[in-house]
Amino acid sequence: MKTSRRSFLATSAVAATAFSVFPGLTVTGKTIPHLPASRMKLSFEPFNLALKHQFTLSGSSRSTTPVMLIKIDYEGITGYGEASMPPYLGESHQTASEFLAQVDLTQFNSPFLIEEVRDYLEQLAPGNPAAKASIDIALHDLTGKLMGQPWHKIWGLDPGKTPNTSFTIGIDTPEVVKAKTREASAYKILKVKLGRDNDREMIQAVRFISQVPIGVDVNQGWTDRDKALELIFWLKEQGVILIEQPMPKDRIEDNAWLTERSPLPIYGDEAIQHLPDVVRFQGVYHGINIKLMKCGGMSEAFLMAQTAKSLGMKVMFGCMTETSCAISAAAQLSPMAETADLDGNLLITNDPFTGVEIKNGKIALNDFPGIGVKKIV
Ligand code: MG
Repeated sequence: MKTSRRSFLATSAVAATAFSVFPGLTVTGKTIPHLPASRMKLSFEPFNLALKHQFTLSGSSRSTTPVMLIKIDYEGITGYGEASMPPYLGESHQTASEFLAQVDLTQFNSPFLIEEVRDYLEQLAPGNPAAKASIDIALHDLTGKLMGQPWHKIWGLDPGKTPNTSFTIGIDTPEVVKAKTREASAYKILKVKLGRDNDREMIQAVRFISQVPIGVDVNQGWTDRDKALELIFWLKEQGVILIEQPMPKDRIEDNAWLTERSPLPIYGDEAIQHLPDVVRFQGVYHGINIKLMKCGGMSEAFLMAQTAKSLGMKVMFGCMTETSCAISAAAQLSPMAETADLDGNLLITNDPFTGVEIKNGKIALNDFPGIGVKKIV
């Protein structure tokens, strides 16, 4: 998709300021004078994450991920947010620019009106979950800074209860898988992508190097439930501890059939987007993988985690390839989860932020207010 200079300029001038531009375009951002009632100013910058390794899922391969970095300035304080938009999910620099350019935060008197802003964004346009998440994250960062507290504290979560994070190993040849496993020696759990025709080879390659527990993510790649169940029993013998989205998300009965019989917990990922999905898929999966970029931000993620726990379901926090901005935002919620897969910032070479760290394989939250990040570039 290509954005014409004319349409980009037209939309970007509505309420926001583009402080950078698409490659090949020269755009002067235009600041709209804010109304006296509010001093919130939204700006956004398209950015491309450079991946350390070619990333292969059961359906595609790529070496960059487009993201939108956003900030909301208010009373001299900046809240940072991010939209990560892997191409297979349908959002892009263009869709996010068009959406964000329509967002007019001047109508809100306070950045604490996060629920009001969420309703407003839903009414503005359907979809755009990553773009919506970027605003929600920035508002959390901003309000946390205004309160002088990190969000895990505001929510009453124990920073000592953060889980280990897994490190992801994409589908590849046995030699590359072995090399990646060696690189991941600092992690206490690995997430291995399966779903092509080399599942056993992938696991055997990892096991050649490492004996740490493995979470398997099939990304909907298995199509025969009997074969899938047989493979899950074999995977259990190999020290695999969980299975994520084994079969296509629309094959609800087959996923439920597997969940009923599986000796390992089955987590829904692609099937679980928003809060109502948690209730809808109780019994279909043992647990849910919550990602800010799917659900639209920290507010919804918190509600999803609470709901899942109240239904006796397991909670995992996951991510796309993201900077430390969105990763640190999700990490604020991580004490609510049994498992986390928050390694997206570790898979890139050009992170413009510092934030949450991994110490001995475990997520280490800092005490900085908001989402706990600092912009370094
Ligand atoms: Mg997944």
